[in-house]
Amino acid sequence: MKLKNSYFVTYKENVKDEEAVSGNLLVRGGFIKKNSAGVYMYLPLGFKVLKKIENIVREEMNAAASQEVLMPSLIPEDVYIASGRRHLFGSSMFAFKDRFDRNVVLGPTHEELFAVAASAHIKSYKNLPLSLYQFQTKFRDEPRPRFGVIRVREFIMKDAYTFDKDLDGLQKNYDAMVKAYIQSFNKMGLHYRIVKADTGVMGGLLSEEFQAITDIGEDTIVFCPSCDYSANLEIAKRQGCERVTPGLANQYTKLHTPNLKTIEQLCQAYNLEPKSLVKTLVYMIDEKLVAVSVCGDREVSSVKLQKHFNATSVELATPTQLADANIQMGYIGPVNCPIPLLVDEEVYSLTTMMTGANEVDMHFVNVSLLDFSPHEVADVSMVQLHDACPHCHAPLEIQKGIEVGNTFKLGDKYSKAMNLYYSDETNTLKPVIMGSYGIGLGRCMAAIVEQHHREKGIVWPIHVAPYEVGLIVVSTKDEQALSLANEMYTTLQNMKMDVMLDDRDERVGVKFNDAELIGIPFQVVFGKALQNNQVELKNMYDQSTTLVDLHDLSQTLHTLIEKQKEKRHG
Ligand code: ATP
Ligand code: MG
Repeated sequence: MKLKNSYFVTYKENVKDEEAVSGNLLVRGGFIKKNSAGVYMYLPLGFKVLKKIENIVREEMNAAASQEVLMPSLIPEDVYIASGRRHLFGSSMFAFKDRFDRNVVLGPTHEELFAVAASAHIKSYKNLPLSLYQFQTKFRDEPRPRFGVIRVREFIMKDAYTFDKDLDGLQKNYDAMVKAYIQSFNKMGLHYRIVKADTGVMGGLLSEEFQAITDIGEDTIVFCPSCDYSANLEIAKRQGCERVTPGLANQYTKLHTPNLKTIEQLCQAYNLEPKSLVKTLVYMIDEKLVAVSVCGDREVSSVKLQKHFNATSVELATPTQLADANIQMGYIGPVNCPIPLLVDEEVYSLTTMMTGANEVDMHFVNVSLLDFSPHEVADVSMVQLHDACPHCHAPLEIQKGIEVGNTFKLGDKYSKAMNLYYSDETNTLKPVIMGSYGIGLGRCMAAIVEQHHREKGIVWPIHVAPYEVGLIVVSTKDEQALSLANEMYTTLQNMKMDVMLDDRDERVGVKFNDAELIGIPFQVVFGKALQNNQVELKNMYDQSTTLVDLHDLSQTLHTLIEKQKEKRHG
């Protein structure tokens, strides 16, 4: 691309409403432009990077013997009602009526439609295995669009779906997809972890997330530095606690604790460790109130609760719901708990504890496990830094991550719902076993920028750089420099390099800043050194600047680019 007559917009100043580094740099560099909350335009540079990411993924999908298709976005609502997912998506689904008063939605994910498409082909075991994928726009009315293109309401996803006759077949397809994901993310230069995760609205047997490690990630990842254990904090486990012999029953006493509602306040007032207090929270779980008791220094995992109760919705009870049930906010406790009680496993490692007394301004001390009988005991609390690994007992570590990809073993959930059966070798009808696999392209682009930038701009890994080489003409008034740069532009293009020529009538400082902002890995300056038939070559990876003879330039660049391409960041 020659910049002079091309669409090219950059901004010197930071963007006001972009909280993430990636959002800021991508908008400033003219890659994307916000249109409304969670909806962005991809401008020429951004579109180019997006296409490079898409092609990396496409190549790997094809290598995994998956076939490309394209499904519609506009889908009859009935499809999601048939699978039982319409209510799970709730208001995150864009839904409306067409002119004939029929309910339609914009697809947030396509398990249902792929099952329908597959049913046209799959009749017998001879038609299996099968693997299909697409690049297509998904619509999700996210409650909190944020972080530039990391969490948006309209985005392109690569979604793939596999179909097998049994779990062994699924495992093979699943492994092929995971391999394709590993190769794709490595090529994009992402540093990531693969973690076990909640299956969420997808349901099924297994979910693994590819989490790009960054400080701004909305996900928290728990991992063991000594073995391969890693999981999303929402479902992460720790080594089970040893149960202790409980203290004596009925020895507890009531304390008047006016205005002491929080764990911190109570610990300070009575010089206690948070662990020896038991806090009790009230949740509304599918329209039923449940009290959940955990040790004072723990948080409750609503995902663990959801899984435990196999529930659709889990929310903290509102003050009105508590008042309606006559529950004293801040003073609820397990002894004579007025509603069903679930106690976290870890509470069983306490001989005695302080708890709420189910009365305003009152707590109990010296409560024993024998003083209450929960309806259920389960692991519902969240892991903390340096808890013991559930596999090898080493101290667990915690990092933040951006979920760039997700792979699911779905089993027969969708095939049963969408009537996708095959006849086996004995002519018996069996449900097809499915898997589904997603990658968000824009989110990958943003995650790459989060991981690869400096103060002045982006440092794109070579495979996703908008251009590999930038030729910068210091002064377009210098006709010789301009014509040499144009010649070099053609030479490099003929050598299949992705090259940009900055031939704008701009100050050279502006050109340098722009090249650095948009992250061109190799920048060549056509300026003073031309007197000696030389150009300045800036390598943005090692930040070196060297003088190169003009006639060596194309070969030097070729070698540098190939070397970068061989490098793996993952
Ligand atoms: P999240 O937990 O971040 O909301 P999800 O688990 O709902 O995402 P999936 O249904 O697993 O998302 O979608 C597959 C991939 O699509 C994700 O791994 C991510 O890369 C991308 N993706 C999902 N939601 C969004 C979004 N709102 N904006 C951009 N990309 C998204
Ligand atoms: Mg996901």
